[in-house]
Amino acid sequence: MPLTSYTSEKPLIYSLTPDEMKEWLVEIGDKAFRAQQIFDWLYVKRVRSFEEMTNLSKDLRQKLSETFRIEAMEEITHQTSQDGTVKFLFKLVDGHAIETVIMRHSYGNSICVTTQVGCRIGCTFCASTLGGLKRNLDAGEIVAQVLMAQRKLDEEGARVSHVVVMGIGEPFENFENLIAFLRIINDNRGLNIGARHITVSTSGIVPKIYEFAERGGQVNLAISLHAPNTELRTKLMPINRGFPLEKLLEACRYYIAKTGRRISFEYGLFGGTNDQPEHAEELADLIGDMLCHVNLIPVNYVPERDYVRTPRNEIFQFKNILEDRGINVTIRREQGSDIAAACGQLRAQYAKETVG
Ligand code: SAH
Repeated sequence: MPLTSYTSEKPLIYSLTPDEMKEWLVEIGDKAFRAQQIFDWLYVKRVRSFEEMTNLSKDLRQKLSETFRIEAMEEITHQTSQDGTVKFLFKLVDGHAIETVIMRHSYGNSICVTTQVGCRIGCTFCASTLGGLKRNLDAGEIVAQVLMAQRKLDEEGARVSHVVVMGIGEPFENFENLIAFLRIINDNRGLNIGARHITVSTSGIVPKIYEFAERGGQVNLAISLHAPNTELRTKLMPINRGFPLEKLLEACRYYIAKTGRRISFEYGLFGGTNDQPEHAEELADLIGDMLCHVNLIPVNYVPERDYVRTPRNEIFQFKNILEDRGINVTIRREQGSDIAAACGQLRAQYAKETVG
């Protein structure tokens, strides 16, 4: 199956980077500076039609609507958790469903976006991969998730301050669209989300880590590590066969040296598999000398998967071992556990209901 994005005759206006918007304007004989006005309408005023862009000529508005789509997705449903977490289920124009989440933190509102319809990485603990990969999202379909979440936050006068690319899909398998997405939401005439407030997480597509070191700018990089040795990692994440731990860490070291930026390692604690004190020691041996941070994720229960939760005291024991070895560690706070919990679960539920 070709890994192309969904293409209708009309591309989404949200897929255009500021430079591409300027190029298009020049191509049709208009002024490049209007890109700024269009960005303002789309991402600051957040209009839903080209008609509303009243400081543009009628002729330009018409050309825009003849060339581009402005409706990316519709909301099927959203669930709001007691802690304020909002989980959206959106329907794309070709009928596929994706998830987007708003999470509340002391430092602001962060949005978790999806980059692919499904996933083909096959991690043994993850719900997103259960139905395989359907297609990549366009850059504009990723941008539109942030916009939809921002519109929801507009109701309370709040703003999207952070974005994590940790929803469904492997972002580094949709690399060009990911990079365009980052440029678009980062642009200060638009959503203006600071690069240091954006984090991209990968299961470890090694060549793309090298490329991200060149093209990722100040955007944060997180790596789903989940195991302290290659044997265990292969068991949890089959991608470790193609991109083994040793090569992954080599790429991480390169990234750190090249960018001077700290890497965040995500380490899911999957009961009875990788959560014992000896695993913590082994992990410390592996990454202890790197400029990094470890984010421990207590397993999110997935009905189709049989991992169990690590007891609380053992989670803290694991954390303490790493800290004693001088490693910076956090435990991921659970959010929205009263609504469909882990990534991909709401979508999986929806698929079951509509198919079954
Ligand atoms: N595909 C990318 C983006 C997903 S980010 C990646 O693999 O990094 C979501 C994070 O949650 C990843 O670290 C993923 O491995 C982790 N995750 C997935 N399912 C989980 C589960 N059931 N419990 C805990 N963490 C899980």
